[in-house]
Amino acid sequence: MTKVIFPGSFDPIHLGHLDIVHRAANLFDEVVVAVYNRPLKSLLFTPKERIALVKATTKGLENVTVIGYDDLTVHFARKIGASAIVRGLRVFSDFEYEFRMAMANKRLDSAVETIAFVTDEQNTFLSSSTVKEIAALGGDVSTMVPEIVLRALQKKFRPEGSMEA
Ligand code: ADP
Repeated sequence: MTKVIFPGSFDPIHLGHLDIVHRAANLFDEVVVAVYNRPLKSLLFTPKERIALVKATTKGLENVTVIGYDDLTVHFARKIGASAIVRGLRVFSDFEYEFRMAMANKRLDSAVETIAFVTDEQNTFLSSSTVKEIAALGGDVSTMVPEIVLRALQKKFRPEGSMEA
């Protein structure tokens, strides 16, 4: 049985992330979406909110579970018996970062592999920061995130009654 983890900040989860979750779930026996609790970047959603949104948007997938973690990713992978870390690659600039992370993780635990999925063409530009920036300025992100995430973004950026939904 092959268990993998898909770690990330998911602040918030968007359709690019979900495409990777679906593809990993088709390929591997078990996928654990691991929501990192302490990234160095500043976040819009709390760990609890990010986990809840990932859970809600992956609910129908039988072999997908969602867990928060604040450990080193390789330590967490080993703890839960995952043999590989799944990541997504968008544009070329992702490659350098993901390559460095994969090398560092390999140095920390050579038994944990990194597997990168190349993004679907239509999600190439999609990132959580792009989604947040557009939503913060009142732009339409309904083609980029699931409905429940859309509502969560609206709640963050548009206090009730202040603007049209
Ligand atoms: P992190 O802070 O660990 O980079 P993210 O939530 O930003 O967390 O991303 C988690 C993973 O999802 C990363 O491997 C990232 O490259 C991948 N990812 C993000 N957006 C997309 C997308 N549009 N298509 C494919 N993979 C993506």
